[in-house]
Amino acid sequence: MKTYSIAIIGAGPSGYFAAQALQNLESDELKFSIDLIERLPTPWGLVRSGVAPDHPKIKSVSKVFEKVATAGNLSLFGNVEVGRDISLDELKAKYDAVILATGTSVGKKLGIPGEELTNSLSAADFVPWYNGHPDYANLKPDLSSDTAVVIGAGNVAMDVARLLALEPSELDPTDTADHAIDDFKKSNIRKVYICARRGPEFASFTSPELRELPDLEHTNVVINKEVIESALKRVGPEPEKHLKSNLDAMLNIASNDSHPHQRTMEFLFQHVPNSINGNGKVESITFTTPDGERTINCGLVVSAIGYQPKDAHGLKVDSNKIANTDGHVESNLYVVGWAKRGPSGVIGTNKSDAADVMKLLASQLPAEPKSKIDLAAVLDAKIVTQPIWEKINSAEVAAGEPLGKPRLKAISREDLLSLGEA
Ligand code: NAP
Repeated sequence: MKTYSIAIIGAGPSGYFAAQALQNLESDELKFSIDLIERLPTPWGLVRSGVAPDHPKIKSVSKVFEKVATAGNLSLFGNVEVGRDISLDELKAKYDAVILATGTSVGKKLGIPGEELTNSLSAADFVPWYNGHPDYANLKPDLSSDTAVVIGAGNVAMDVARLLALEPSELDPTDTADHAIDDFKKSNIRKVYICARRGPEFASFTSPELRELPDLEHTNVVINKEVIESALKRVGPEPEKHLKSNLDAMLNIASNDSHPHQRTMEFLFQHVPNSINGNGKVESITFTTPDGERTINCGLVVSAIGYQPKDAHGLKVDSNKIANTDGHVESNLYVVGWAKRGPSGVIGTNKSDAADVMKLLASQLPAEPKSKIDLAAVLDAKIVTQPIWEKINSAEVAAGEPLGKPRLKAISREDLLSLGEA
């Protein structure tokens, strides 16, 4: 029997699915010893700091992650940062294979004048802010104006627009960060535009997300019916199933009667952003539309137009992912998830994707495994092991219970680490 040592960097969905795929490849002859390294004191990646807090069902995949974590051959090394506590080259030298599962955490730029103005934000910062990611807690978005504009026609843009447009008490029974619930409750924003640069037939929203919008109890959701009818004409009588389902969901919203709610979320199509305007701070945004230029007064702009990898450890970034061939980067280094494919697909997409890369990795293992290293012994860090994470997790869940929340998140690294010590 041979046991290979594998390091996975990043304890988000693609990291856990890679570990699960390795566990599934085990046999009497082949075993893996997996060290899962995560720079935050908390694992689960986007399931903790990306998924919208009003979508708790999507987070139930964390049960799968915990099963993988406790299967017996995985050790969690939370609060350990590659590049600070240990280098990628050291890991490559000490392990039989190293897997990057670090996602794509930097927001793509619009590249238009005024993007740098105060309160012109990226969803890559805004989303982790409301989800309590320690690095974004001090974002302090200014929600004092009456209008916000969200740019992009994907599910992230929709999450951001919905969070800005809903009645904030709807977030009380969720695990939204307390600082964000407080700020949303003080917010003056009553009108949120979500702006697509192309027509509805090109939007990358998915229909389940569109279909749930009419359920918002305190928010008018507005789409111009003629715009959807024109798109339906353009796509012809037999559009592809997913497109038909999207356009039907939009038509349903467009056909709904308007309610006398104070809050409105309005979809605008064929609005190409030209410039963000203001004196030091966002005051308006100008678009090119089929009818000419249009300027919308607003105090907040959030762009949700895709992501790219943050720190590629000196590796080549090819458009919005780490350059790779079917998940192989170089020598014994592999990549999975958004870092491999770019930022597309839902959480489940990472499962089959990781399984394919792990098959490739297994086929390229050296004949003789390296001897297992004791990673804890070479690190000078306050490591969050699986038992420590379980303490943090239980403490957050217990703190949320009397408040009717699935958990009350601790935000700062210090607070998280102290929950693990209690
Ligand atoms: P996305 O689906 O790729 O959408 C990005 C949007 O940005 C597109 O509408 C794109 O328009 C637009 N865009 C790009 N560059 C632009 C520019 N310069 N100006 C204006 N618009 C621009 O990406 P995402 O919303 O970040 O989502 C990433 C992935 O996560 C997706 O697969 C998504 O489904 C998934 N996700 C799923 C959920 C869920 O299941 N509930 C929630 C969040 C995210 P063009 O098409 O014109 O390029």
